Amino acid sequence: MFNVFIGLGSNLGNRTENCLAAIEHLSDFTIIKSVSSFYETEPVGNEDQPRFINAVAKVNTLLSPLNLLNSLKTVESQLGRERNEKWGPRTIDLDILIYEDFQLDSQELTIPHKELVTRRFMLEPLCEIEPWLEHPTHNKTMSTILKELQDDREVVIVGNFYKNN
Ligand code: ADP
Ligand code: MG
Repeated sequence: MFNVFIGLGSNLGNRTENCLAAIEHLSDFTIIKSVSSFYETEPVGNEDQPRFINAVAKVNTLLSPLNLLNSLKTVESQLGRERNEKWGPRTIDLDILIYEDFQLDSQELTIPHKELVTRRFMLEPLCEIEPWLEHPTHNKTMSTILKELQDDREVVIVGNFYKNN
């Protein structure tokens, strides 16, 4: 089984329900190990859109990175995501943040996620569940990367909606 961290985000419709529904779908092809609190976060890129709910899930899976990405895209469309503008509003966004210590760089899939080290809304929830995780290319722990991060966009815990076992 491979250890994978998946970033979830939603800023359209019932954002919390969308994230919970996505986790439910994830459990069809992964084992959910833990889920962070849900955070309300300022949008990045196009700032003229609603705030996001973001969370990070730690899962185990046997799927390869590309097969996992395709499964995530299927869940995104099942939950009604329409792909239009980059960085625009979306019912659900599912990103592979970390896949073991794999490194991959293609148009279709970059692992670790390119923006992980620059985005508070990804690092805060990830550090909540796995602060000592080493970043595969930066050779620092996630908590050190978060400490050194210069991103002052707001990231606020709104609740613990997924009940970890
Ligand atoms: P974003 O997540 O950047 O806001 P999208 O969800 O529309 O935007 O993703 C655009 C493309 O990014 C996807 O079609 C996917 O192939 C590619 N991609 C590259 N690396 C990753 C990754 N680590 N996780 C998810 N998608 C990725
Ligand atoms: Mg995405």
